[in-house]
Amino acid sequence: MSEAEAKQIERMKTLLADQKAAFRSDRHRPIEKRKADLDRIAELCRKNADAIAEAISRDFGNRAKQESVIAEIAFVIQDVAHTKKHLAKWMKPRKVGVPLTLMPGKATIRREPKGVVGIVSPWNYPFQLAMAPLVAALGAGCRALIKPSELTPATAEIMKSLIADAFEEDHVSVITGGPAVGEAFSKLKFDHLFYTGSTQVGRLVALAAADNLVPVTLELGGKSPAIVTPGYPKDNAAKSIGWGKLFNAGQTCVAPDYVLAPKGSERDLGEAIIKVAQHQYPEAASDDAYTAIVSDKHYERLAGMIEEARQGGAEILQPEHDAQAAQAARKIPPTVLINPPEDAKVMTEEIFGPILPVVGYTELDAATDYIADRDHPLALYVYSTDKAQAEELLDRTMSGGAGVNINLLHLSVPDLPFGGVGASGQGAYHGESGFMTFTHERSVFKTGKWHPSRLLAPPYGKFAENIAKKQMK
Ligand code: NAD
Repeated sequence: MSEAEAKQIERMKTLLADQKAAFRSDRHRPIEKRKADLDRIAELCRKNADAIAEAISRDFGNRAKQESVIAEIAFVIQDVAHTKKHLAKWMKPRKVGVPLTLMPGKATIRREPKGVVGIVSPWNYPFQLAMAPLVAALGAGCRALIKPSELTPATAEIMKSLIADAFEEDHVSVITGGPAVGEAFSKLKFDHLFYTGSTQVGRLVALAAADNLVPVTLELGGKSPAIVTPGYPKDNAAKSIGWGKLFNAGQTCVAPDYVLAPKGSERDLGEAIIKVAQHQYPEAASDDAYTAIVSDKHYERLAGMIEEARQGGAEILQPEHDAQAAQAARKIPPTVLINPPEDAKVMTEEIFGPILPVVGYTELDAATDYIADRDHPLALYVYSTDKAQAEELLDRTMSGGAGVNINLLHLSVPDLPFGGVGASGQGAYHGESGFMTFTHERSVFKTGKWHPSRLLAPPYGKFAENIAKKQMK
């Protein structure tokens, strides 16, 4: 661990204590203050959009400004607007009915902020995946410490400085550092821990949180399949899948990881996807709109996956490109692999890059069995012109979220909870589900002077006997 990291670890312990003390005197942050907190987030996004997009592009080696604006900065602004619009309704206490025997008591659920929350974020959308959980936490009236990824240091630094300008340290603060800092961070006694990243590290985070009984949300990864059904127009499938796979060069948690297509159609579909890649990125891998791979290590992993599939006999489709220029720019060209071996890494690990296996199936049942035999994915996409068939395919599988004839964009619908299931995660956020993640539902039962427990206390008489009889029915 570096000296700087050791300092960050000391600093975060102090910050946590300060935030907890501040929360105690501000336990029920009024709606006006929460809305002002949210406005500060939207404002820092608007005022610094160029600088944020430049930092992200520097971290990746290249990322189109449009991708960063759409998927990160504007996304957060929209999230703020949605949260502010619905906040009063979400914060409202809920009255619930009481059984006859407990009348005239009144039962209410109070929606209370959990307190100080920890947010650990990954590198692939380094701004959005730290700020969107923060929007939910601030809407819920919480305070927050954020630990961004060390792989995107320029974005982490700009977030740290913008947050420091906009918020008091005992309200929101950013801690920088690598796995050692992340590990120490996940051992802190937060009131909630919100983690986005790999399944492997998510397991460690869950274990660390369990030690303190800290409630934890895990937004993890996995292999998200796209099923193309027989008869679905090939070009429509290719346009949609090619777009979703190549956005941010496949470094998207909900990107289609692999495609299941009717046997015999794999090559045609693969070629159509490569055509889409050529249309979207006419300069091939050197196109400015095409995102680079985040680090040399990630680049080498992806290049190794292609090589392994090649040696295993998979047919490889790529647009024409200058391999040397692509490598120098740390870009993996859009790559379709036709029927790679089942035990190849592209079929056993989350790919997280612009490589797309297209695998043939004989019957749709075999395709859904293939998915059901594996960990539940974060997303699943069905391409079908038959509504009943699409429903049936959803019925026969399980995933965190799903899209029918579309991919990625279910995460842009603010009222859809976003999260995984099983190995792809637990808990969810976005919209009201994000607010609820950082909210404790406190059950309160009130009575006036008279309360039924008096009739139910010993020495037991007729009333208690009748109540017991009634309840046993
Ligand atoms: P990662 O797990 O390597 O790192 C994520 C964060 O965890 C970083 O901030 C890192 O410093 C920290 N960390 C590392 N070791 C730690 C430890 N021992 N204890 C605590 N924290 C630690 O993940 P990554 O490579 O940055 O992200 C890629 C993965 O994230 C992919 O699997 C992807 O699918 C997933 N992901 C999921 C979502 C989602 O919303 N479900 C979104 C984006 C990415």
